[in-house]
Amino acid sequence: MDQERDRLKELEDDDRRYIWHPFTQMQEYEKETPLIIERAEGVYLFDIHGKRYMDGVSSLWVNVHGHRRPEIDRAIKEQIDRVSHSTLLGISNVPAIELAKKLVKITPPGLEKVFYSDSGSTAVEIALKISFQFFQHRMGKSCKKTRFIALTNAYHGDTIGSVSVGGIPLFHDLFHPLLFPCDFAPSPYCYRCPLEMTYPSCSLACADELENTVRRIHEETAALIIEPLVQGAAGMLTAPPGYLARVRKICTRYDLLMIADEVATGFGRTGTLFACEQEGVTPDLLCLAKGMTGGYLPLAATLTTQEVFDAFLGPYEEFKTFFHGHTYTGNPLACAAALASISLLSPEEVLPGFQARIQCLSEELARLQGLNHVGEVRQKGFMVGIELVRNRTAKEPYPLKDQVGHRVILEARKKGMIIRPLGNVIVLMPPLCMEEGEIREMVAITGAAIREVTE
Ligand code: PLP
Repeated sequence: MDQERDRLKELEDDDRRYIWHPFTQMQEYEKETPLIIERAEGVYLFDIHGKRYMDGVSSLWVNVHGHRRPEIDRAIKEQIDRVSHSTLLGISNVPAIELAKKLVKITPPGLEKVFYSDSGSTAVEIALKISFQFFQHRMGKSCKKTRFIALTNAYHGDTIGSVSVGGIPLFHDLFHPLLFPCDFAPSPYCYRCPLEMTYPSCSLACADELENTVRRIHEETAALIIEPLVQGAAGMLTAPPGYLARVRKICTRYDLLMIADEVATGFGRTGTLFACEQEGVTPDLLCLAKGMTGGYLPLAATLTTQEVFDAFLGPYEEFKTFFHGHTYTGNPLACAAALASISLLSPEEVLPGFQARIQCLSEELARLQGLNHVGEVRQKGFMVGIELVRNRTAKEPYPLKDQVGHRVILEARKKGMIIRPLGNVIVLMPPLCMEEGEIREMVAITGAAIREVTE
């Protein structure tokens, strides 16, 4: 007994001593007892003391079918018995081929080629570099199309390229001297409309603004990057209907490549397999990661059209090769996990009951709308952002230094649920398999935690 207690104490001490946690103020973290996960089952995580927590954010938006799903466990174990890793640089492997074929089949029509990497940020870096190089090849070395357009409040990852197209001041401003130039158009954030208009009477004025920007600088711009339907890390900002399709039209009209970053929205999250489907959009490049392996292993993909791919073909000495590749590109274990996860997303498995569960989530969330400090509840499928405000009438935000979101998630943790805030926005991103009883429990804990902190 004493030995076990010492082991757990040592783990807690060593966590604080050796790990630098991402997006975490370590000076504060080191004062608290760390929460250390040891095992999981379905939608629950268990810490080293055996306490059970609901996984309300799918272990950072990745878990799709719950933890320890036998089909995915088995696929990885079987692949280990064949080969765990071999390179894709110049040679291939079986699961990478099968997965590429599958991805081309299930993504919007017109995407034909798959370039693998290992995180959402790398999927985006690759899309940016491909777009840049595409125009260098297509129009010759003097090509001026070298810039990018993104949206304010955008988040595309933490590497320098993906930060360059990021629009969240708290995360991105400091690095400004290191970044390449990017132009920003207003985010379709209806609750705090940057143009001070109201949907639908605005007739998508933010898309008109975007078009004005594109019209002005399209000759210097290679691509526009967008998170389709939901700007996730900005606080689950849900775009009004029609916005995405408008963006596609603008890109086509002004000869810009459209990069859809579905790292967060992909694999069922928004209620359809991919968010682009909801507005009949095929981007020129599609970035996937997070949910692709069902939350098991790091894997990402950047898909492109045949036209983009063809621009990189030619005799070696023309040096049109895409000189880019990560060591674990197309890792067979990760690809085997992704194949198993995607087959569970088939029309017979997760998706049929999913619309009913989304509806159940909406009904439960409606109860939170009335809370004194809930400004807006945003939902798209199983992506939820609850924006907390100091004053509802004035939509006055809480000062960031008050850490209201953080305090709410600590309260939720005491009540047996793990979630993570985005500033003053409480995020719920449950595994897609979460059942109605569990959904009710998740929202009830969230409401109680919000009340505890704000009232
Ligand atoms: N793009 C989007 C839309 C994201 O939400 C994220 C992560 O949250 C990323 C890119 C970066 O992904 P990763 O953290 O795997 O690098």
